Amino acid sequence: MRVVVLGSGSQGNSLIVELGNRRLIVDAGFSCRELERRVRSVGIDPDAFDALLLTHEHGDHVRGAARFARRHCLPIYATEGTLEEVALSDEVRSSAVTLRSGEPKAIGEFQVEPFLVPHDAREPVGLVIEDGAGHRLGLVADLGSPSRLAWGRLRDLDVLVMETNHDLEMLRHGPYPWPVKQRVAGRHGHLSNREAAENLPELVSDRLRHVVLYHLSRTNNLPALALAAVGEALHECDSPAETTVTFQDEPSAWLEV
Ligand SMILES: [Zn+2]
Ligand SMILES: [Zn+2]
Repeated sequence: MRVVVLGSGSQGNSLIVELGNRRLIVDAGFSCRELERRVRSVGIDPDAFDALLLTHEHGDHVRGAARFARRHCLPIYATEGTLEEVALSDEVRSSAVTLRSGEPKAIGEFQVEPFLVPHDAREPVGLVIEDGAGHRLGLVADLGSPSRLAWGRLRDLDVLVMETNHDLEMLRHGPYPWPVKQRVAGRHGHLSNREAAENLPELVSDRLRHVVLYHLSRTNNLPALALAAVGEALHECDSPAETTVTFQDEPSAWLEV
């Protein structure tokens, strides 16, 4: 199994998971045309997906979802709450599949396990995606705080894709209005570098090989700060896991899970 992040940040998020000839696209936070451009730029035909999974209904995760699904005849997999919040054509809605927290779902060779996360959307989820050989990828895209439920699911991963949204000092002294700062830093907003780093050791195991830093704010974070915080946490628990930071404007390299 391998994964590539098409882009990540407050302006749009999407990633692809591939196993042989089967592919999932998770979130579609770019316009349909931009999404197609990015998919092609990592060597994939936009018609070559099996499903589109949505973590929650915020625009930076669903901007191109309805159109991409319709154009490429893809079933959307999302929680009931998310499906109710996204505007979909009747055709796309009728082929949608409901995800429920704690109920694993087989999609082709993939086993997908959704779990609820604390974030200010209707029914947001994180995902663990497993292949037939037991390789496990965990994704927590938007996360207000590290909940017991989420941390319980994110065990025994090979690759963890995790939000490191902001540096608390940059947020505090940055340009956002006070209520927005409070929302971002709140328990149902976004995860800071420090929160990610402090709670990462619980998720470290011998098999964790890679931590992908996701959803960095361009206004309130710097890649070097996020990398330093997470790198130090991994170093302190003697984990050899590597870290990769992802960007808004360009896809990452493919990563083996
Ligand atoms: Zn969100
Ligand atoms: Zn988001």
